[in-house]
Amino acid sequence: MKKAVVVILLSVFLPSCVTPQSQGPFIVGKPWGGPAPYGERVHPGIDYDIPTGAPVVAVSNGKVVHIGDLGADGLEIVVMHGPHFKSLYAHMSTVAVATGQMVKRGQFLGLSGESNSYGKPKYAHLHFGICKNGPGLDCHNVSASFDPNLFWLGGQPRCFEPRTDYSIYPQNAITLPLACGEHGKALRPGAS
Ligand SMILES: [Zn+2]
Repeated sequence: MKKAVVVILLSVFLPSCVTPQSQGPFIVGKPWGGPAPYGERVHPGIDYDIPTGAPVVAVSNGKVVHIGDLGADGLEIVVMHGPHFKSLYAHMSTVAVATGQMVKRGQFLGLSGESNSYGKPKYAHLHFGICKNGPGLDCHNVSASFDPNLFWLGGQPRCFEPRTDYSIYPQNAITLPLACGEHGKALRPGAS
């Protein structure tokens, strides 16, 4: 009897512990606000578990305000979206934009990677954060960040679609930071 109860409990709880959360077309390895993989105590962004070399795109129109290593998240890009917020793309392998450059929603920013300076085993993923637009660039503690789930266009994570007219959406509504579908294929290195 006891054994049966344990088996039932395990079958109820294990899938939610073991299976990464799925969000849009990409696997969320670590959601916002949960246990952090590196130095942070609470995770200040979303980790998309993707192999190195995936095209990363701007989630809304904005201005690139930083490229480099802000703390220990390796090669990072920060884009400021008007007075609303900033977006952060970390652990990149390559960057295709320059500091001060204006970018459009869906524009290619660079390729994902596994760069970090924690001295931890490599973990290929995109760390994506939405941060308060205050002075400074820090996005690495949860009190400076927002849950990106509050900002998705139409309430659900959605890919950028080149044929969609985004002028009806406010600047603080975001699309996914990863390019998918035909747009994603066109942005991959070597695509013509
Ligand atoms: Zn992360």
